[in-house]
Amino acid sequence: MATIPDNIQHVRQQIAAACQRAGRPVADVTLMCVGKTRDAAELRLAVTAGERCFGENYVQEGLAKIADLSDLRRQVEWHLIGPVQSNKTRAVAEAFDWVDSVDRLKIAQRLSDQRTPGLPPLQLCLQVNISGEASKSGLLPGEVAAVAEAVAALPRLRLRGLMAIPAPASGFAAQREPHRALRELLVSVRESCAGLSADFDTLSMGMSDDLEAAIAEGATIVRIGSAVFGARSAAADASTLQT
Ligand SMILES: *Cc1c(COP(=O)(O)O)cnc(C)c1O
Repeated sequence: MATIPDNIQHVRQQIAAACQRAGRPVADVTLMCVGKTRDAAELRLAVTAGERCFGENYVQEGLAKIADLSDLRRQVEWHLIGPVQSNKTRAVAEAFDWVDSVDRLKIAQRLSDQRTPGLPPLQLCLQVNISGEASKSGLLPGEVAAVAEAVAALPRLRLRGLMAIPAPASGFAAQREPHRALRELLVSVRESCAGLSADFDTLSMGMSDDLEAAIAEGATIVRIGSAVFGARSAAADASTLQT
């Protein structure tokens, strides 16, 4: 059975090959290891293998792992990539470095108000329902510019870009389409919104099954779970992968 370090090496090779095909420097793409359903000991193996960027879907599960890995706190960047309820914003604002999955202005306002003084600004992405699926959270593309402009004005946050979880598609060309749409949306928001910082340049997109297509379209963070930690059970997936 492949170990976590083996998996990471394989994913790193996939990323490097995809960057080469896309004519992009490999340093432009961050590998985020998505640890949902995995325990802190498994994440620690990934840190030992050199990984620095970790994503968690659930606030409680993420907080527990941040605490378990507190000795590595300075080495690790923690992203929340799942839904944020209002009653959890304080804990999130105190513990995480990034929230990739903000889809309402109200949540951003609370995160800004509650960000611990003395910590750097919380880095934020707006989640976009890029495939327009009724079952998925995220802003509709047409809503993003107005929310981005309002979020950019909040003091304790730094709006870094956009995140999406496209509907699964098979075939490289079909997989590229939603990623291209997210990239084009990022460009148009950058052109139309006042007050965005110069580093509004993050495209958090691409998972184990479509990372090459995402990189071809400009992904700067790929969020990889099963290809790093091994397959999750179908039941675990049904309850975690986007509610
Ligand atoms: C689970 C999950 C991932 C990783 O999915 P894999 O297919 O296991 O790579 C990425 N992003 C989000 C939001 C997820 O919930």
